[in-house]
Amino acid sequence: MTWSATVLTLFPEMFPGPLDVSLLGKARQKELWSLEVRDIREHGIGKHRTVDDTTAGGGPGMVMRADVACAAIDAVERAGRPLIYLSPRGAPLTQTRVEGLSQGAGAILLCGRFEGVDERALEARAVEEVSLGDFVLAGGEIAAMALIEASVRLIPGVLGAQASPAEESFAAGLLEYPQYTRPQTFEGRDIPEVLLGGNHAEITRFRREAAERLTKSRRPDLWTLYEKRKR
Ligand code: SAH
Repeated sequence: MTWSATVLTLFPEMFPGPLDVSLLGKARQKELWSLEVRDIREHGIGKHRTVDDTTAGGGPGMVMRADVACAAIDAVERAGRPLIYLSPRGAPLTQTRVEGLSQGAGAILLCGRFEGVDERALEARAVEEVSLGDFVLAGGEIAAMALIEASVRLIPGVLGAQASPAEESFAAGLLEYPQYTRPQTFEGRDIPEVLLGGNHAEITRFRREAAERLTKSRRPDLWTLYEKRKR
């Protein structure tokens, strides 16, 4: 079955956008994955298709109405897919989660705007919240694209032979080792000798050590987890 994403958004014109270039775009043509974009405004209230209102309790900004959000959600066929609201309050997206998503049927992604979505809609439909990171975007669309791109590139056949997800950052709980290509010398800097020697055991060890060193210095949080798992 084709991995399928359904995006609920107030700005459908943002899609497919960057999801249609390069290998992901080709993979979509080959029907390795599919994208359906639904305009939340179709479920808006009245002649003006109103989707939001002022925040209860006061304060700046507007909130997406629960009835509108739920009508948009209910119009989508679940097809065994998780229902996710992209939100800075959500669990930060990780490669482990992305791997899980890529092995499933796809995802239904609700994109907020303004101050977010009425809490009752999230409760009533048991919506899971996922965050792109500890910063605030203007809307959920770019976060949804990131989630889709990260998931789809792991679907067998999408990247082709030229990349191996098993070797890259986070796959083993480490950041990736540094990469080099021609020229052999650049502004006085050489490619590390061992990489040119053809001794695969040595190369593997060199890369492992470099990955560990990088992870330890840049991401002590990942390093701690990695060490715990090794024990
Ligand atoms: N007032 C909210 C932020 C709203 S930002 C708060 O402080 O939590 C508007 C929309 O952008 C949100 O509804 C959400 O869908 C999206 N968004 C913002 N930051 C995000 C992030 N880090 N990850 C995923 N989605 C995000």
